[in-house]
Amino acid sequence: MEKKKDIKSMTLPQLTEELTALGEKPFRAKQMYQWMHQKLADGFGAMTNLPGRLREECAQRYSYTALKPVRVRESAIDGTKKFLFELADGNVVESVWMRYKHGNSVCISSQVGCRMGCRFCASTLGGLERSLWPSEMLDQVYAVQKMTGERISNVVVMGIGEPLDNYGNLLTFLGILTDENGLHISQRSVTVSTCGIVPEMRRLAEEKLQITLALSLHGTTDDKRRRLMPIANQYSIDDLMKACAYYFKQTGRRITFEYSLVGGVNDTDEDAEQLAALARPLSCHVNLIPVNPVRERKYVSPPGERVRAFQAKLERHKVNATVRREMGRDIEGACGQLRRELLGG
Ligand code: SAH
Repeated sequence: MEKKKDIKSMTLPQLTEELTALGEKPFRAKQMYQWMHQKLADGFGAMTNLPGRLREECAQRYSYTALKPVRVRESAIDGTKKFLFELADGNVVESVWMRYKHGNSVCISSQVGCRMGCRFCASTLGGLERSLWPSEMLDQVYAVQKMTGERISNVVVMGIGEPLDNYGNLLTFLGILTDENGLHISQRSVTVSTCGIVPEMRRLAEEKLQITLALSLHGTTDDKRRRLMPIANQYSIDDLMKACAYYFKQTGRRITFEYSLVGGVNDTDEDAEQLAALARPLSCHVNLIPVNPVRERKYVSPPGERVRAFQAKLERHKVNATVRREMGRDIEGACGQLRRELLGG
């Protein structure tokens, strides 16, 4: 059976081309696009200002993705909500909704599983199943906005998967997400987090988007980084820093460093000093994440005073550093944990 084309993954020009080939006027494509990406319609049936025969023809020709919520958990501590969604093929991904002072944020997955193998991360334990389509990334944002009934203002691609290992689909997703005929989320309100695939970081720089790029650094020497992240065997810190400088030069956007603090592994004063030396020249913001213990892994989070001392050391070296609020800890808020639980991991 031939696979039907996925209509929600089409950009407006692509959809226009499709529908004009069927003999429709271009404005029909725009109407349909707005139904999908602005009014968040559940299917062609909801598109009441489009002719019935067009809706029927589209239903025959195209697939219309939808997510099935299989589990929703709300944190009693901070109201964070974690969603487990089933995709059309039965795979599951996680999304997390967080309320901040400046607006609501959703953290979405970019792949089913991950092949990057970071040692402290639950998402990678079962390897990579497949990458997500643009529609499946959009659907997470749309479903969460509809289910919470509140407008989403920030999107972070920091859930399951490595977004730059799904580059083409990520770019299409970003285009539709920030499009004025869609939810029109500002590029500046979107963050993409990567474990550091250097060629793709450079490619992204050349797109000249205004999104924030977050680099998961976690170690300040090649040796230390390799202990936590297999990707460090491929790209050196030197190459990473050059790619960050290039991103900043091309886009004018400062990079964020993510640094998961692991007790006894990367949390000494010396680590903080080395981290400051990397962050200073690039004016990076550092986001410290006390490591979330994962059952299958032996890593532990440093004591609170060590975290604060680490942050203070960075600040003393004039590096802006925040400690990530641990949201949703009571609901398995860390990457990939809820999916693992469902899979019986
Ligand atoms: N693959 C991308 C995005 C997904 S992970 C990346 O590597 O950036 C999002 C962030 O959470 C990364 O910084 C990742 O290293 C971190 N992370 C994953 N598991 C964690 C855990 N158990 N504790 C703390 N941070 C974790």
